[in-house]
Amino acid sequence: KTRVYKFGDKKADGNSKMRNLLGGKGANLAEMSSIGIPVPPGFTITTEVCTEYNLLGKDEVIEMIKSEVEESIANIESQMGTSFGDKENPLLVSVRSGARVSMPGMMDTVLNLGMNDEVVVGLAEKTNNETFAWDSYRRFIQMYGGVVLGMKPASKEDIDPFEEIMEHLKEKRGIKLDTEFTIQDLKDLVYDFKNAIKKRTGHIFPTDPWEQLWGAIIAVFNSWNGDRAVYYRNMNGYPADWGTAVNVQAMVYGNMGSNSGTGVCFTRDAGTGENVFNGEYLINAQGEDVVAGVRTPQQITKLGSKRWAELARIEEEDRAENYPSLEELMPVIFDELNTYQDILEKHYRDMQDMEFTIQDGKLWILQTRNGKRTGAAMVKIAMDLVKEGMIDEKEALLLIEPNKLDELLHPVFDASALKRANVIAQGLPASPGAATGKIVFFADEASKYKSSILVRIETSPEDLEGMNIAKGILTARGGMTSHAAVVARGMGKCCVSGAGALKINYKKRTLIVDGHEYHEGDWISLNGSTGNIIEGKVATAEPELNGEFAEVMELSNKYATMKVRTNADNPKDARIARNFGAQGIGLTRTEHMFFEVDRIKAMREMILADTVKERKQALEELLPMQRSDFEGIFEAMEGLSVTIRLLDPPLHEFVPHQLATQKELAEDMHITLQAVKNKVSELEEFNPMLGHRGCRLGNTYPEITEMQTRAIIEAALNLKERGIICKPEIMVPLIGTVKEFEMQENIIRSTADTIFEERNDTVEYLVGTMIEIPRAALMAELIAARADFFSFGTNDLTQMTFGYSRDDSSKFLPIYIEKGILKVDPFEVLDQEGVGQLVKMGTEKGRDVKPNLKVGICGEHGGEPSSVEFCYRTGMDYVSCSPYRVPIARVVSAQAVI
Ligand code: PEP
Ligand code: MG
Repeated sequence: KTRVYKFGDKKADGNSKMRNLLGGKGANLAEMSSIGIPVPPGFTITTEVCTEYNLLGKDEVIEMIKSEVEESIANIESQMGTSFGDKENPLLVSVRSGARVSMPGMMDTVLNLGMNDEVVVGLAEKTNNETFAWDSYRRFIQMYGGVVLGMKPASKEDIDPFEEIMEHLKEKRGIKLDTEFTIQDLKDLVYDFKNAIKKRTGHIFPTDPWEQLWGAIIAVFNSWNGDRAVYYRNMNGYPADWGTAVNVQAMVYGNMGSNSGTGVCFTRDAGTGENVFNGEYLINAQGEDVVAGVRTPQQITKLGSKRWAELARIEEEDRAENYPSLEELMPVIFDELNTYQDILEKHYRDMQDMEFTIQDGKLWILQTRNGKRTGAAMVKIAMDLVKEGMIDEKEALLLIEPNKLDELLHPVFDASALKRANVIAQGLPASPGAATGKIVFFADEASKYKSSILVRIETSPEDLEGMNIAKGILTARGGMTSHAAVVARGMGKCCVSGAGALKINYKKRTLIVDGHEYHEGDWISLNGSTGNIIEGKVATAEPELNGEFAEVMELSNKYATMKVRTNADNPKDARIARNFGAQGIGLTRTEHMFFEVDRIKAMREMILADTVKERKQALEELLPMQRSDFEGIFEAMEGLSVTIRLLDPPLHEFVPHQLATQKELAEDMHITLQAVKNKVSELEEFNPMLGHRGCRLGNTYPEITEMQTRAIIEAALNLKERGIICKPEIMVPLIGTVKEFEMQENIIRSTADTIFEERNDTVEYLVGTMIEIPRAALMAELIAARADFFSFGTNDLTQMTFGYSRDDSSKFLPIYIEKGILKVDPFEVLDQEGVGQLVKMGTEKGRDVKPNLKVGICGEHGGEPSSVEFCYRTGMDYVSCSPYRVPIARVVSAQAVI
């Protein structure tokens, strides 16, 4: 059995399919090498050896792999033309872990292995760089000391013992940075480090490179069972017997003089997706130097260099002389690199992000991976690759990271402005986008400034208009399904919610963050995609929905079988969503219409009415308004199904809580202020979410259901007269027993029949229900026998299954997630194993009695990728989500099929 796999010199014993045996890193290095890419030669000790080590122990395992490892080192030596432990021409190696899945930072690495007091002198001579040689030695002792010899801080309060020594020296020398150490300093450090190791651990630092190597290999095996790795494995459910591989690879250096260098490059533009090879490099530098920003990196291509010089306002002559591209400076190396980037992109069939090093005139590729990219670049690259014949349509869809589409739909911050931004706090990225405006604390003051940001402890339905006017919404409380978050997403408005660090004082109109006070009228900016709250004004730019975006949407339609509807409460949102490709409305929350100024009064009169007669009078006033709302929505959604839900929220949300408004209402209704107050306190509930709401309203006040049914059916008939087809679906909220549904259904159907008779005309309509109380899911057979459709209201279903209040959970959910009690916020990502069982059961039971029962989802999860995928697997007919999430859900439902 082979236990050690070699790679290098355009050959390899392994390949990318051998992840389980070679680990992810080892498999990829082998793959690159075997397709002719010059990776520094090396070898991988398999994951199986790790498991054998755990069973048999150190001595037996070393004996088992000794000859293979020796042969592999010899192989590296012959390829590099150096030898391990040689004083004049030393080979140094890196030793790294590499499990089958990437476990970032969980296991150990040793670099520059093979150094000792003689080798360092040879390396200094060979590279003509004493500082480099001694600094490498210093780093080696530090890493080896920590990883292999156990030189760790004594307790978690202590600092790293090596850092402590370096701090002392810096103090003594009056310097701040590592780079300020002189050669003598580095020599002293090496001496002190070794002494400290001996004193603390009793180990004499090994000078024999072979002893060093075996020590490092065993340490990497041990790190598989280290605390960090075990914790990470358990958290992700990775079994202990996977083990880790060990990768030993020749070190290459880009800081060996003017014929060396290092850089990072991309096969396409990661910002725009444009098919141009690009990147940056530095001559005589090490890996970190390019990203660290100490020196100005130069461009890889001549074209890139010219573009860069234009932006930096550098004259062509100056550019060519002082900042030449790699293409100009080292044309042969550039050609080689250009060839490899082409090979790698074609091989991995995706844009690649590569790292390379030029050591003394020889090019080495250290790494390649699929490159990170913006949303705009993502759609362009996917569609370009199809057009270039590199991938097919299905593969292109799989290259789309659904959530990233969002970036394309909302205004965006100017990238360069963002770099200078001062982030003062962070909340939940509740609704993406970029917003900049002046602080206001009250919804009715949102129009005070041309651009305002509404800053609230939390929002309520009364704030709707102000939220619409404001450029962005910021709340101190509330989670991803808080009122502010849901409404903002629906509006496509930037929102950051639940930013606990904000101290808001409504009376003083101040916002205090971290001791710093902000006032009404101060500029503030919100990044709804990251949750960042930024001081001052950050420049924004309007997004462009270019051709490739539309092409991706078209492809999604071609492959998706599950439909995507939208949650929309007014014609404007309906039109936006339709533009994004919504195939109907899955939820219209009728209550949102009642909050507009001219309606809230009639609504309040209705609620405060003492008799049925009075209530009916108030409802009469509301009827024409609702009817015209529905006409507008039906028209916007011509030809498509529109689900309208009957009134749902607890009534106390509609009554006035401020004295002035209470007085006004008393006058309007010709009753005493006390009567209004009494009624308001009567409606107060200890737990409104479980109180008098949902179908409990329609069943206790049937006239509300009658009025709403009339508004829906009459709107549909009116449109029919105008030749506009609409397909209303009337939805009953929050049922738990079949009787609750039956009662509502009877009212709806008899009201509709009455209208059909009055008008001597009919329209087709459905009567269905939300499934959002666990009992409804359990009793789904009975309910399906009556209902035309089910729509899972997973906001309430999550609330009631977990027993977490939607409005209060932001107090403890972040802590739960931090402590690992929950992995994610269940109001954001559907809890498939728990709540999902109810969804699955409800669907199956329902379809047992009615095989073609229409089933959908309209909770916030309907636009969250993993949840949408779950809905597809559950066999739903559609998901429904906020307008701005429609494109995301469309792509996911296509990906689910592929
Ligand atoms: C739900 O509960 O999932 C739902 C869609 O209704 P609402 O959010 O309006 O309670
Ligand atoms: Mg609900």
